[in-house]
Amino acid sequence: MRTSTELREGFLSFFEEKGHVRRSSASIIPPADDPTTLFIVAGMQPMKRWFLGLEQPQSNRVTTVQKAVRAGGKQNDLDDVGLTNRHLCFLEMLGNFSFGDYFKDGAIDYAWEFMTEHMRLEPERLWASVFAGDPELGLGEDEVAITSWERYLPRERIVGLPRSENFWQAADTGPCGPCSEIYYDRGEEDGCGRPTCGPGCDCERYLEVWNLVFMEFDLADDGTLTPLPQQNIDTGMGLERAAMVMQGEDSLFDIDTFRPLLAWLGDRAEPAYGSSADATKAYRVIAEHARTASFLVAEGVAPSNEGRGYVLRRVIRRAVQFGRRLGLEPPFLFELADVVREQMGSAYPELEERRGEIAQLVRAEEKRFRETLERGERLFEEVVAKGEITPEDGFRLHDTYGFPWELTKELAAERGLEVNEEEFTRLMEEQRERSRQGAGFDVEVRVTGPRSEFVGYERTDVLTAILAYADLGDGTFQAKLEQSPFYPEGGGQVSDAGYIENEETGARAELIKATRLEDDQALTFQGEGLAEGARVRAVVPWSVRFPTMANHTATHVLHKALRDVLGEHVRQAGSAVRPDKLRFDFTHPQALTPEERERVEQDVNRIVFENHPVRAFITPIEEARHLGAMMLFGEKYGEEVRVVEIEGYSRELCGGTHVRSTAEIGPFVILSEGSVGSGARRIEAVTAGEAFALLHERAREAEELRAELVEIRKQAKREGGERAADVVYRDESGDVVVAEVKAIKGSALRDLSDQIRQAKNARAVLLGSVDDGRVYLVVNVDPSLVEAGVDAVAVARAAAEKIEGGGGGRPNLAEAGGKNPAGLADAFEVGKSEIAAARG
Ligand code: ATP
Ligand code: MG
Repeated sequence: MRTSTELREGFLSFFEEKGHVRRSSASIIPPADDPTTLFIVAGMQPMKRWFLGLEQPQSNRVTTVQKAVRAGGKQNDLDDVGLTNRHLCFLEMLGNFSFGDYFKDGAIDYAWEFMTEHMRLEPERLWASVFAGDPELGLGEDEVAITSWERYLPRERIVGLPRSENFWQAADTGPCGPCSEIYYDRGEEDGCGRPTCGPGCDCERYLEVWNLVFMEFDLADDGTLTPLPQQNIDTGMGLERAAMVMQGEDSLFDIDTFRPLLAWLGDRAEPAYGSSADATKAYRVIAEHARTASFLVAEGVAPSNEGRGYVLRRVIRRAVQFGRRLGLEPPFLFELADVVREQMGSAYPELEERRGEIAQLVRAEEKRFRETLERGERLFEEVVAKGEITPEDGFRLHDTYGFPWELTKELAAERGLEVNEEEFTRLMEEQRERSRQGAGFDVEVRVTGPRSEFVGYERTDVLTAILAYADLGDGTFQAKLEQSPFYPEGGGQVSDAGYIENEETGARAELIKATRLEDDQALTFQGEGLAEGARVRAVVPWSVRFPTMANHTATHVLHKALRDVLGEHVRQAGSAVRPDKLRFDFTHPQALTPEERERVEQDVNRIVFENHPVRAFITPIEEARHLGAMMLFGEKYGEEVRVVEIEGYSRELCGGTHVRSTAEIGPFVILSEGSVGSGARRIEAVTAGEAFALLHERAREAEELRAELVEIRKQAKREGGERAADVVYRDESGDVVVAEVKAIKGSALRDLSDQIRQAKNARAVLLGSVDDGRVYLVVNVDPSLVEAGVDAVAVARAAAEKIEGGGGGRPNLAEAGGKNPAGLADAFEVGKSEIAAARG
């Protein structure tokens, strides 16, 4: 066992032999009912319901290799990539799991056997950590684990670590237990040399390779522990870390699967890998991020400004930034992603299946970022023309134009200008605070007062008054308006954006969020100089509202189209309607085929171009049912409901804002389709202006690709010509040409025999080539000679004897292959005399 591929397979079959059921990796996107992390971070996570006893496990012994991404959220290793030798963002986690079956002894036995006998690690280099105990939990050190380890390790190599390191719990309460980690000692030369150095030290001499979790307690609200009726084992070993120690490398980035990525970069970048710490870091970050980006896109994630899409965007942009340090101009990462596919595509077929999408999305994001950078650099020049760069400038470049602060710093340094990092950080913090308040559903409602009338279905611009006001501090306040055009978040549609303004005083406040309070609403603003009783103009900019409406109506059309194409089992499972895009989750057991996806997209566009009127009306719920309006399962509706009807097409209960007819949706383009846990899929799409921009971009890319292809063809032609120049003619006397060429075979060799026959006006061509220790022959005979009795197959077979091989083909074109390059000259002679004899 040596390669990553052997390790992956070796691990699974080892545990299979030990009675475990092999399961393939679950999606990196957690199931919809697990909002605890943005991505799957460990092998046990997709099996949580089994561990928590909520469901009967498939078997009491299970083994997996699980894809994981540790970025965004609590488990965030993104910023450590390139900084340490042992952290990746995307990783594969090898795991074995026991549900009420074997416990500590069994887990330790298996780990020891696998590491020493299969990975063939020197036992002297292995250490184990165990839980040292914790007074608050009322637990002493894990003696059972110590005794168990003592069967393999001397007591000095079993070390106790505190609760923070070696006690696992999924949440504040519930199943939990001590863990035991296995460390690999990479040797004194890799250590910090401090007397306290040992497992857990951050110098990376002792590398944590495998974590064994012993789930044995239930933690109650009051902090007391009771033993679980069923004890479980959850283990996780990073495949890359295991490969690193097995292959004797100093970092995860030097293992077999990473090497081709570094080599690809090495061919294009300057300076070389290893020439400086900075260069090494850049190579590593780029290689890592090519992997993470590939796997995220393969899971249906598209770059965006929030959640998983934001992680993807950051990863791509970070790689581009590091690329610039190596003189790489974007787009380049999308090509490196193809090297990732070559390495991992056989283990993860999704990389093959979504190959085109990976290239396209990564490339588009790289280009978008390049444009951002170019624009940022221009703006930067304008700013520095005044001789200084203030933190506000840096913040504006960053916040409004997406220009990274790091680059502002770098460019400033090049010109000998000072930047005030502290002040910039403060501005960033303020911004974060503002968006934190605005995001999500947890804006605390503090304002009370009379009901605010929502008039946003008809109007986006109203003159009204502030009915109630509550100061929230820091320039934010909450208000109720007499009449409000602002749509409060609900029914999948996000809160409107906009502002209120006192036209006399000019005082103005930006809407952070409109919160729904049954049939009332509370509005949170940022701004000064407004108070209860003030007359204000309240505005939702049409540039925000219109695309939101287009997306909402498109969501209804998509819902119906999915049911038409896939079947009536499709149910809406969630949606998010925003100004920039829409997201629609629905129940369906498998991925859409490319044909289904296309039909859905076409159906929606057909309804758009048929221009169906859209109208909304209030009606008793019974009547809505009678009309066959689609309702959300499990949702509570009142007696009177609002129905949104797309005439001649669909009816759906909905409180959202909609366009007046489907043509206003404009083009509808699906961005991605992917899984969101078992039995549910997610489609993301754009409409109207966003869709047009995307189509435009795609067309431009297609045009560029076409130009590139023309270039490649031209080059191939030139190279073909050069290759022909490598032909060494052996015998050109008469009308039979005998020639040897360098290292080509197959169709290229056959094509070349045609070219030579025409160029030399020959009636027969005998072509030979040696490639990688094998000999290849082609016999190409003019039809006139075939008629005269020459059979290319017979000639090839006779010649093949001299090269210790065999041949076949058609009377005018035959091939032979053999394993004796030394016999080529003889083979040519035999071939020539065979032709001479046959033509008489
Ligand atoms: P570390 O302290 O080194 O960050 P961890 O405590 O976060 O590790 P666990 O959460 O216990 O690690 O994960 C189990 C195993 O997964 C680890 O023993 C290691 O082999 C691997 N692993 C964890 N994080 C990473 C990462 N960022 N990159 C590669 N492998 C990892
Ligand atoms: Mg960690």
